[in-house]
Amino acid sequence: MQPLRIYSVVSKLPPKLEAMWDLAYNLFFSWNDRILNLFASIDHELWRRCQENPVAFLNNIPQKTLEELSRDDFFLSRLEDAKKALDQYMSRKPTAFTFPENKNHAPVVAYFSLEYGITLSLPIYSGGLGILAGDHLKSASDLNIPLVGMGLLYREGYFRQYMTPDGWQQERYPENDFNQMPVHPVRTKDGEPVSIIVDLAGQPLTARIWEARVGRIRLFLLDTYVPENPEHFRQITSSLYGGNLEMRLWQEILLGIGGVKALTALGLEPKVIHMNEGHSAFAGLERIRVFMQEKNLPFEAAGELAASSSVFTTHTPVPAGNDRFPPDLMRPYFEGYVRSLGLAYKVFLALGREDPRDDNEPFCMTVLALKLSRFNNGVSKLHGKVSRNMWKKVWPQYPEEDVPIGAITNGVHMPTWVAKDMALLFDRYLGVNWREDPDCARFWANAENIPDAELWRTHERLRERLVDFVRKRLRKQLLAKGARRKELQMAEEVLDPQALTIGFARRFATYKRAHLLLQDKERLLRLIQDAKRPLQFIFAGKAHPQDNEGKKIIQELIQFCRREECRYNMVFLEDYDMKIASRMVQGCDVWLNNPRRPLEACGTSGMKAMANGVMQCSTLDGWWDEAYRSDNRLGWAIGTGEEYEDLAYQDFVESQTLYNLLENEIIPEFYDRGHGNLPRSWIRGMKEALKELGPVFNAHRMVEDYVEKAYLPAYTNFLNLMRDSFEPAKALASWRMEMMTKWGTLNARNVRVETPGQIYVREPVIVECEVYLGGGLRPEDILVQIYHGPVGQDDRFSSRQTTPMTPEGVLSDGWHLFRGDLIPSEAGRFGFTVRILPHHPLLLDPHSLGLIFWAKS
Ligand SMILES: *Cc1c(COP(=O)(O)O)cnc(C)c1O
Repeated sequence: MQPLRIYSVVSKLPPKLEAMWDLAYNLFFSWNDRILNLFASIDHELWRRCQENPVAFLNNIPQKTLEELSRDDFFLSRLEDAKKALDQYMSRKPTAFTFPENKNHAPVVAYFSLEYGITLSLPIYSGGLGILAGDHLKSASDLNIPLVGMGLLYREGYFRQYMTPDGWQQERYPENDFNQMPVHPVRTKDGEPVSIIVDLAGQPLTARIWEARVGRIRLFLLDTYVPENPEHFRQITSSLYGGNLEMRLWQEILLGIGGVKALTALGLEPKVIHMNEGHSAFAGLERIRVFMQEKNLPFEAAGELAASSSVFTTHTPVPAGNDRFPPDLMRPYFEGYVRSLGLAYKVFLALGREDPRDDNEPFCMTVLALKLSRFNNGVSKLHGKVSRNMWKKVWPQYPEEDVPIGAITNGVHMPTWVAKDMALLFDRYLGVNWREDPDCARFWANAENIPDAELWRTHERLRERLVDFVRKRLRKQLLAKGARRKELQMAEEVLDPQALTIGFARRFATYKRAHLLLQDKERLLRLIQDAKRPLQFIFAGKAHPQDNEGKKIIQELIQFCRREECRYNMVFLEDYDMKIASRMVQGCDVWLNNPRRPLEACGTSGMKAMANGVMQCSTLDGWWDEAYRSDNRLGWAIGTGEEYEDLAYQDFVESQTLYNLLENEIIPEFYDRGHGNLPRSWIRGMKEALKELGPVFNAHRMVEDYVEKAYLPAYTNFLNLMRDSFEPAKALASWRMEMMTKWGTLNARNVRVETPGQIYVREPVIVECEVYLGGGLRPEDILVQIYHGPVGQDDRFSSRQTTPMTPEGVLSDGWHLFRGDLIPSEAGRFGFTVRILPHHPLLLDPHSLGLIFWAKS
């Protein structure tokens, strides 16, 4: 029998406890220990059972307990403190960054992401991409950046993982009840829910808008599970990365096009949009449509405006991780839509193709995003380089190093990930401002002053707590499987709170190679069976439901963990989530990461571990490639950054390197105990890593980088383009078209060095070149550059710099003379050439036209 209607009953808090709703509905609680403690201390068991979800928690506290609390003066004063902490946070002064002409601190940037990992109780994330988005919002809030978030609210979120008895991953999709979660529907002044309608191949798709408060940041989430929609449309926000390709297309139309509509429906006018991964690239199109319609602009000017104010971050060097749709699948959804933009369907398809002329190429969201934004970046230095190589076909005339994709390395939100005990130690020795100013090296330098014993004891306490957590979780896992008493008893004895503990937790994508450690099982067994120097491993992670290879890896690992010889020191924890992640990065001694270079774009779990004094052992991929120091003082590197053709051989070599590191360096150093049983040299490493890496690999530094390098330039450019009823945007667009047609007239001759005789270090070399400008091109339309640098044995540039040349007048036959000088800083073998790029004062990036002219000899 099913009920006719289902309704939620909400607790009626005694008036003195009303403030608890405020605390519950602002996700600020997820990084404020005072508020977290306040909730948890009421009833630890219930708090845990409610997945640390304060709304469900408040609704489940027995009325009697609530009444007792309302008479408990001690509790009330703690509540008052917590409320004060929230109020103070919310009323803090605006940011150090000023967005000019932005009165009332209105939102300037809209951040689009398909997933957000903010807190355990809002399960709309799958992995690193989501956690990064969550950390981005949290730091934006701390820094008071005028930003809002846009995403989807999934009824089933990402799947929950459990295992069959033989270790095969199974998926569960428990349903979220949004009324019991820290989100609320956005309503109009009259109390009506705000919703939007998106056209899906002629059918209206309705989405309701929910809001989550992330400190000062408003995060809007779209939900299609509404009565107006037919069943198949309701499923659009059913699960994250579930469903088929068409479902993914619907989700991306909803996020991109629906997201822009939602901003309008909310009365917001952010000037800049940030697309976190290509999923939201349709937002660029929708903005063009809106600019054309509302501002009455031609397509080109609208496109100029949209692209100049868009920021795109690409996240994956794995080709399959970049969404590609067959043109026929897209046709019903876009043929009419792009006609309204004045585009032929084929021209539109070209926007998503690496080779616009290839009719068979699927439509790639990453390519669309790259073409619709003027600021593109990868998420670590290495990933920037890999992305330039990966997407160079989009800029066919460009040398790879000039492909306009830069890098802003990810960071983690320190207050979220640093353990409470460690945070207290930081408060005392780093200074309380390390939370507000984690990118200030001065604070982290104080790590030096933490007494060795205190740092080590704190770390050991966190390891003990992790062991305790693992035992409890394991017990729960076993209970759920109907395990026998003996097995349950074993769960209480796994792991040794004193032993060297290595953690490995992440998505089980094959390139992450969770089983690298199992390459030589005999050797591994020898290492973990050393009773004098015990070694133990904790694993966790989910494989994508359709990834059988990933599931096989989990199975192999679980079966190994179950072997008699290692069941006490190798454990696999089911259902990896933010809770497990946080315990593990806080309590392990070593964080192991061995992706196949260069497939890890950045990797952030290692940074969370670093912030807790956990040492790294990782291949030189993602962030570790730029963080690692060759003296091993900050952690260890597996290999030296080689890339292999023969993958089996690579696995063999790198696994041997890993065993060697463990055997010869990591284990001996951990057990090299001096006075007071302290591993002095290890502790030294912990401090060095905090000092050097702490100020860099945190989300404040990351968000500040985005503000300075991307948001502010995009914002001011937008303001400039929209002045005088968008005249500059129109002018820029027609200049661009003119360049496209006239570029072919360019020519250059007589590239020469005007310095007589020998060239010496640090003495200027004068370079001249003559340029022909046809069809009315003017010298100020171009940027002539000397392109120079050291030349390797293969006669190619091994690195390069550019130096501008200036126009020096017109020759008698109408050619223009350009001159510049370069100063060799070292002796050696150098070369130079001359190139020409388009130039316009309002053009953010001279590479964005894809036009370039290289002087020929
Ligand atoms: C940090 C985190 C990740 C990302 O870890 P990587 O090192 O980037 O693979 C994934 N899942 C959860 C739950 C996390 O907390």
